[in-house]
Order: sequence, then C-alpha cells, then structure tokens
Amino acid sequence: MTAIDSTKHQKSKALKPGSRRPAKELCSECGLCDTYYIHYVKESCAFLTQHIAELEAEIHGRSRNLDNQDDWYFGVSQNMMAARKKEPIEGAQWTGIVSTIAIEMLEKGIVEGVVCVQNTKEDRFQPMPIIARTRAEILAAKVNKPTLSPNLSVLEQIEKSGMKRLLVIGVGCQIQALRTVEKKLGLEKLYVLGTPCVDNVSRAGLQKFLDTTSRSPETVVSYEFMQDFNVHFKHEDGSTEKVPFFGLNTKELKDVFAPSCLSCFDYVNSLADLVVGYMGAPFGWQWIVVRNDTGQEMLDLVTDQLNTQPVMSQGNRKEAVQQSIPAYEKGVTLPMWAAKLMGVFIERIGPKGLEYARFSIDSHFTRNYLYVKRNYPDKLDAHVPEYAKRIVGQYKLPDV
Ligand code: FAD
Ligand code: SF4
Ligand code: SF4
Repeated sequence: MTAIDSTKHQKSKALKPGSRRPAKELCSECGLCDTYYIHYVKESCAFLTQHIAELEAEIHGRSRNLDNQDDWYFGVSQNMMAARKKEPIEGAQWTGIVSTIAIEMLEKGIVEGVVCVQNTKEDRFQPMPIIARTRAEILAAKVNKPTLSPNLSVLEQIEKSGMKRLLVIGVGCQIQALRTVEKKLGLEKLYVLGTPCVDNVSRAGLQKFLDTTSRSPETVVSYEFMQDFNVHFKHEDGSTEKVPFFGLNTKELKDVFAPSCLSCFDYVNSLADLVVGYMGAPFGWQWIVVRNDTGQEMLDLVTDQLNTQPVMSQGNRKEAVQQSIPAYEKGVTLPMWAAKLMGVFIERIGPKGLEYARFSIDSHFTRNYLYVKRNYPDKLDAHVPEYAKRIVGQYKLPDV
C-alpha cells in the first residue's frame, strides 16, 4: 500500500467528536477521522495499515537499508547532528528549534501556513491544533502538549483555504496518515517537520501520571524523560523536580499510556523530512535527523542560529534493556533511595548519545511488541515493521 495517488478525491462524512473510530481502542486521535479524509482511513490509519517502508521509498527515495543497524533505529537519513539554539526560546520544550524553523519558513514566504498545536485557554495540556499564519501563533504552540493531539483535524481547512505551500509539525502516527493522503490536499509543496514521540497519553491518563509522580501536579508546565534517567518536571515557579525512572510506580502506571502508543513502532517519525528531538544528543542538546533534501532545505534556514556538534555514542545498552524487560513485566518499583542511587550509577556508566537513543528505542519496542502480541496477536505480523522485528529480535522475551 503506497500513498493515494490521484489528486481528485472523494469525501466521506467526518465522525462526531467522541464517537468510536475505525481503529477502535487503538485510535491515537490523530485527527484524520474528524475530517472528510476519513474516506481514506483504511489505507491511512497507522493502526489499520502499517506501510512505512513503501512510504519511505516514495518520500525519501529509498526505504530503510535492513543491513544497516543505524537505519533500523533512526530511519532513512542523510545527516544527523546535535544542536541547540544560541538564544533559546523561553518556554519552548527544549531550545525551540522546531518553533524557529516554522517561523523562518513562514516569514521567508516558503510556506503560507503551519499546522501546529496550541492549548486551550482553560487547560495548558489540552491540545488545540491550528493553522498558524503568524510568528505569534507559532510561538503560542511552543512546548509539548504531552497528550494525544488531533493535529490532522485541520486538514479540511487547508483545502478550503486554497493554500499551496504548507508546513506540518507532528508526531509519527499523524505523519503516516498525512503522507498517505498528501496528494489529496491540493498542495504544491508539503514540508513535514517531525518530533520523535513515545508513551503518549489521553488527557485523563496524563492527570493520573502527574498525580502519581509529581509532588505538585497542578503547577507542572512541562516534563520530559531525560537522558540522565530522570523525569524532569518544570513547574510554574521555574523550579525543576526530578524523579528517577526507576522510582516510577510502574504497577500504577502500566495502563496510563494509550493503547495506540503501546502499539507504536514509529518512535523516530520515519516519514518526516526533518526530525528534531533530543534523545540522540548529549544532555542539554537537541538531536537532528535530516531525512531528505527537503529536510536539509528546512535546516539550512536556521543553521546560523544554532551551535552544532557531531553526534556521539558511548556505552552499551544491551544488558540494561534485557534486565528491564522482566522488571517491567512484573511491575517492579524500587524504593526512592534505591531508584536515585541506580539513576546516578547508570548515568555515570550508562549509554550516552546515540546509544541512549537505542536504549530508549529497544526498551519501548520490546515492551510494545509484547503488548501487541498479548492483546492483538492477529495483528502482530503485519503491524510490526521489519526494522522493529529486527530490533526486538536481539532480546530474549518472555512467553506471553
Ligand atoms: P518547541 O519549539 O517547543 O515546539 C514544540 C512543537 O511540538 C510545537 O510546534 C507543537 O506544535 C508540537 N507539538 C506539541 N505537542 C504535540 C503533540 N502532542 N502532537 C504533535 N505535535 C505536538 N524527543 C525525543 O528525542 N525522545 C522522546 O522520547 C520524545 N518524546 C516525545 C513525546 C511527545 C508526546 C512529544 C510531543 C514529543 C516528544 N519528543 C521526544 C520531542 C521533544 O520532546 C521536543 O518536542 C522536540 O525536541 C522539539 O523541541 P523544541 O524546543 O524544538 O520544540
Ligand atoms: Fe482515525 Fe487517526 Fe484514529 Fe486512525 S488514529 S482511527 S486515522 S483518528
Ligand atoms: Fe502517535 Fe506513537 Fe506518539 Fe502514540 S507514541 S502519539 S501512536 S507517534
């Protein structure tokens, strides 16, 4: 299954908010079904049809080379680096490279609009996708909304607006659906700026995570699972609270992640032109993956605003991943003092740079593979991409 080809398209009636979606409980609320593009849901939905390799070949000119382990992990790429803004954007998730690229593309007239996600007035974590047409609107979308976000719900507005050049910012499941219907949007050029994404949650799931984990859930403005093996919560008063991964209440939190995200194997956003995350970079830096020439064109717009350095890789993740598999299955939670100690120890000797990214990918893919095998055994073979099967195949998994 490749992208839908002809530019003419058919429309079906969008689903009402809150109604059951075609992917049922696996729906990640990407927004496609909120539009008449639901007509193409069978081919587009990341949870009904997994066709990453075919779309990679169409978009990047080739799919992952399965003889190259870097391709298994990071997808098709031309270039990778660590980078940070010389002058970070205050209040961005990291240093604001994503928002900066979007602003440059808009203000240089390369695109007419940017699909991004702000939050509602009432709730800083409730996503509100928009098509931004000004710098201020892009800046109002900075920082992660760590919840499932229907970014594609604005697709109908794009066609109606007559826009021809567009930038979409989004996570893997949104981008797979977008790429499948791309030719139906009536655009001359689509640019896709992706972030990695993992362990996303519904709004209710987020509340449970905050209530279970933070000392002051109501003042959290953002959080991140950092390379130092701590969750860093930023609070309204500017303080940072650190909670070690190994001290998380895994038993309580097991069902907090959305079923879509426990079945997701596109952590690194394989189909974006350019990916901006953090996990392959040293602490404090962002990690950039250029997948194709379009991605390079986007990055070139901001390189004078960045400090950069080559990617590095240090340590060996394999044993830590193997040990984490039965620990997660059993829902082991360490006492806080032991968790802190373990965090300090692992940070000193543990994986860094690209090896940390591999650690995170391995841990999540093994967990997700077991989840799909247990809950959707009939889907397992077609749903798990070949690169993910190879990653998971490096580990001994329990029988489920
Ligand atoms: P900013 O300039 O602050 O811009 C953030 C952009 O993200 C905004 O344009 C906004 O439109 C968009 N956005 C916010 N929330 C969502 C959402 N829910 N869905 C789609 N788009 C959204 N990187 C890693 O390396 N490893 C990870 O494990 C990882 N997990 C992530 C999990 C989630 C749920 C999300 C949304 C992102 C994750 N990232 C991860 C990416 C990382 O946290 C940063 O978003 C990225 O490095 C960009 O930082 P920035 O300062 O340049 O972004
Ligand atoms: Fe529809 Fe997107 Fe949900 Fe799939 S994930 S059912 S395409 S809204
Ligand atoms: Fe989508 Fe995967 Fe992120 Fe969940 S983890 S929101 S399925 S990209």
